[in-house]
Amino acid sequence: MIQQLDSVPGWDICIIGGGATGLGTALDAASRGLKTVLFEQHDFAKGTSSRSTKLVHGGVRYLQQGNIKLVMEALKERGLLLRNAPHLVHNQKFVVPNYKWWEKPFYGIGLKIYDKMAGKLDLGRSQFLSKEETLQLAPTLDPEDLKGSVLYHDGQFDDARLAISIAQTAAKQGATVLNYFPVNGLLKMQKKVCGVWVKDALTGKEYEVKSKVVINATGVFTDSIMKMDDPKHKNIISPSQGIHLIVDKDFLPGDTAIMIPRTDDGRVLFAVPWYDKIVLGTTDTPVDTVSAEPVPLQEEIEFILKHIGRYLTKDPQLSDVKSMFAGLRPLVKGKKKKTSGIARDHLIYIADTGLITITGGKWTTYRKMAEDVVDIAIERSGLLRSTCITKELLLNGHDQPVPPSSVSALTNDQLQKWVHRAVQEEMCMTVEDFLSRRTRQLLLDANVAMEMAPLIANLMSKELNKDDPDSYRGWIKEQINNFNSVAACYKPATG
Ligand SMILES: Cc1cc2nc3c(=O)[nH]c(=O)nc-3n(C[C@H](O)[C@H](O)[C@H](O)COP(=O)(O)OP(=O)(O)OC[C@H]3O[C@@H](n4cnc5c(N)ncnc54)[C@H](O)[C@@H]3O)c2cc1C
Repeated sequence: MIQQLDSVPGWDICIIGGGATGLGTALDAASRGLKTVLFEQHDFAKGTSSRSTKLVHGGVRYLQQGNIKLVMEALKERGLLLRNAPHLVHNQKFVVPNYKWWEKPFYGIGLKIYDKMAGKLDLGRSQFLSKEETLQLAPTLDPEDLKGSVLYHDGQFDDARLAISIAQTAAKQGATVLNYFPVNGLLKMQKKVCGVWVKDALTGKEYEVKSKVVINATGVFTDSIMKMDDPKHKNIISPSQGIHLIVDKDFLPGDTAIMIPRTDDGRVLFAVPWYDKIVLGTTDTPVDTVSAEPVPLQEEIEFILKHIGRYLTKDPQLSDVKSMFAGLRPLVKGKKKKTSGIARDHLIYIADTGLITITGGKWTTYRKMAEDVVDIAIERSGLLRSTCITKELLLNGHDQPVPPSSVSALTNDQLQKWVHRAVQEEMCMTVEDFLSRRTRQLLLDANVAMEMAPLIANLMSKELNKDDPDSYRGWIKEQINNFNSVAACYKPATG
């Protein structure tokens, strides 16, 4: 991939950002035959795209808000994603417990509409369940005053693994995708953007990369790239933090998730089985600064524990939390003049310099976002017109064994095999890449991940050919230290 940077004189499309939006755009562009390069400053999906609630959904919340168009689009994308990534996305049952008489008809009708909107791509009909049927599916729901529930279906997925799968599919279609390559500046000719300055973060080597189109797909970092384009640019992103807590399965045994459509203060709360654990979330907290490793706030942790405790027979305590993680939503404030005119949840801006920015949306709609932005790039830059094919494109790995989510139960031989695959085929460069995004050990149990780090560092050092004994030991030590400082933010302080 790196050699391509020296050998290709100019690209059709250069994408900044390797989250869901950027990777989806790289796949869309490459599969239309465009010469495509993508740069991610850290690892693929290190940003928001590995920190979601893991739902492939139309968004019952958006339905409540009356945003019919958005829900219809997301439900269609949900169906396509289930078809094209069956190894990473599956059908998930949810119950909406009813404790008040009006909740059953209210949510029942809403979810019937949700079913209908999915049309041919629906995942199963919603149903009214009695109290007994509800407790069979979710035995730890608080039975006091429980009247019954509404059962419905949505999709659930592994976000970081899907990102890797999209990156691999894009590479197969001819895209060059690079992690640990921060973009540090934009190239301009006659006031038009014509490429980027990038640096190989692992070697320090810098490159000047020419491209007909540059697309800014950097999520909450959107403004930093827009400032490279126009130093007077005024921020358009208001970041909002959402956190998740991971607890053991005994808080919600079985395979059914719980959805609380409205907490006291009007939020949606989920408890969703994910691998052998339960994901609890999320929050919506405006924050002033953006960081690659946002940290859950004490009040967010308390909010989730307090509210989920009201619906379960056993209240989870801070000491029950195995891991926690925070993600940042790139909410767009106000209206920017030059939008694409597309009325969707995502927004596309085209600057006078030609820089194209895409932001907003959600994981579920990444494919459609990519299709829209590549259509615009083609229209604006006179690239050869070609049709999007990603609706029908199976994603990489659908015919292979899926890597394990956690690694503690593996033998050394099995571990070696997965480390080998991650390094050789998935561009895994650091211990954190392996424990956080190639597997999900860090998100599932932070203590176990920290215990595993020295072994993983050892195995990876061999795969990465760190032959020289001094640098080899130095590399291992550095990797363990780096990992431990990141992992510390995933462990709640129980005091
Ligand atoms: C708490 C929470 C829960 C969510 N749950 C769901 C859900 O269940 N389902 C769903 O569909 N959606 C969900 N979403 C939304 C979804 O996660 C996001 O819409 C999506 O991940 C955004 O992807 P992105 O690629 O735009 O941004 P990001 O994933 O943040 O990617 C941007 C990337 O750009 C990189 N970058 C920045 N600057 C540079 C630079 N100078 N050079 C190179 N690279 C750079 C960053 O490192 C980053 O990796 C959730 C969001 C949050 C916050």
